[in-house]
Amino acid sequence: MKEKAVVIGAGIGGMAAAIRLALKGYETHLFEKNGETGGKIGELYLGGCRFDTGPSLFTLPELVDELFALAGEDPREHFSYVPLESSCRYFWGDGTMLNAWTNRDRFAEEAERVTGEPRRNVLGFLDECAELYDLTSGIFIFSPFYQFDNFRKPESLNVARNFRKLNAFSTMHGVISRRFRSEKLVQLFDRYATYNGSSPYRAPGTLNVIAHLEHNMGAYFPENGMREIVRAIEKLALRHGVTIHNGEEVLTVVREGNLVKGITTASGFLPAGVVVSDVDVIPFYRKLMREEGPARRQERQERSTSALIFYWAMNRRFEELDLHNIFFSADYPAEFRALQKGAVSPDPTVYLFASSRAVPGDAPEGMDNWFVMINVPYDRGQDWGAIVSAARKSILDKLGRRLGCPVEESIAAEKVLDPREIERLTASHRGALYGSSSNSRFAAFRRHPNVKSRYQNLWFVGGSVHPGGGIPLCLASAKIACDMIPPAE
Ligand SMILES: Cc1cc2nc3c(=O)[nH]c(=O)nc-3n(C[C@H](O)[C@H](O)[C@H](O)COP(=O)(O)OP(=O)(O)OC[C@H]3O[C@@H](n4cnc5c(N)ncnc54)[C@H](O)[C@@H]3O)c2cc1C
Repeated sequence: MKEKAVVIGAGIGGMAAAIRLALKGYETHLFEKNGETGGKIGELYLGGCRFDTGPSLFTLPELVDELFALAGEDPREHFSYVPLESSCRYFWGDGTMLNAWTNRDRFAEEAERVTGEPRRNVLGFLDECAELYDLTSGIFIFSPFYQFDNFRKPESLNVARNFRKLNAFSTMHGVISRRFRSEKLVQLFDRYATYNGSSPYRAPGTLNVIAHLEHNMGAYFPENGMREIVRAIEKLALRHGVTIHNGEEVLTVVREGNLVKGITTASGFLPAGVVVSDVDVIPFYRKLMREEGPARRQERQERSTSALIFYWAMNRRFEELDLHNIFFSADYPAEFRALQKGAVSPDPTVYLFASSRAVPGDAPEGMDNWFVMINVPYDRGQDWGAIVSAARKSILDKLGRRLGCPVEESIAAEKVLDPREIERLTASHRGALYGSSSNSRFAAFRRHPNVKSRYQNLWFVGGSVHPGGGIPLCLASAKIACDMIPPAE
């Protein structure tokens, strides 16, 4: 009989872990409380349009490809994506518009033309981000960097030798504002802090590495939308023998001393030699392990921000828009001050994603599918009804002003997602999108590891553990955890 492995939660991290365990020879069972796999990478049909409900930015696609290659399959036969010409179109209130071309030289030229910032400053900063990635990715992203052995690797010595270059004692904004004269470019690069739910005014300068992914390595989009990532890897999992238990919530993790013996669901006990959790670590400890101490310790770390999203099926098409669009606020620091206090600024930066620009079938001809998102604080019991209606008004005003026409009258159908609903759907503590925030230079060191010495056969993947949230990092967490798990006997 094959040795059993259980994965709890079919987010991207859990699905990747299940595939890796099946390929290691385990009889692998993937349990998902919802009726379908994917976790935050969801999909919605509304008003004749299709929407990706969660992530929309796709970087490091090779980490998805790697799963197919590991299984001896050609990724291109099962999953296709295209490089984007522009990673984002930026709009400011004074009428300025800037395309972030993925070709560095073209972007630097456009930045100089639009903002007056010398192109050498842009290229110099992008080179600096690339160097940061080369220095840190091997240690901070692709290995269990909290383990002692990691500090003996040559890469770690290299980091130590170049410590000054990490900018760990400056904030992201501190570094960026020293590199650029243009306030618009400062705001543009500051925004990358929000990619892991943090503030550019508090997150360490090391996180300027995030800009490297889009600007130097490229932005991509799956040919049939983000949800295609889930469809493709779910099929891969099934082809390699993973049993997917959708609609089956794991109720407890059963232990004896330092050993995990298996899990329980409403159908009873399932023994397992390996258990991997893709559940946010706080509900995992509190509900599944009934261990209040570790849950409390994790809770002490500030959560990342959440999101308020309006899915609008629009009965007309707005040609000014690209796939990814940002409408900046006039006062960026005020926005993050409000978030820190648990509030939403009256003038939030608006992100508008129209997948129909890349997947024409996502909206019927003459229509647009708008995913309109603002960053909001994680749920602290605020009056979300009031926040949603105030935000809806300010978003409509801003978009109407910038697009030069009333927007509300074009909304044919609407659905809203707020932090409470994000928590209900995905069990993410307080609706935070990326687990704990990176608003401290110690955040990376305090993030929950992929394995704890206390339990020898329990592993952790997903956005609330090392190396962090976002699709690429969740995929990296599965690789790190599963590389440490021995093959089935
Ligand atoms: C609105 C939004 C926008 C985002 N934008 C981006 C983006 O543009 N690019 C990007 O890379 N990332 C983005 N992210 C973040 C990214 O989606 C997440 O980091 C990633 O998908 C999380 O994957 P995960 O493996 O942590 O699992 P999750 O997606 O958090 O899924 C965990 C799963 O575990 C299940 N579960 C929980 N408890 C149990 C239990 N007891 N038993 C069984 N199942 C259980 C849940 O139902 C859920 O399906 C965004 C997220 C959101 C919500």
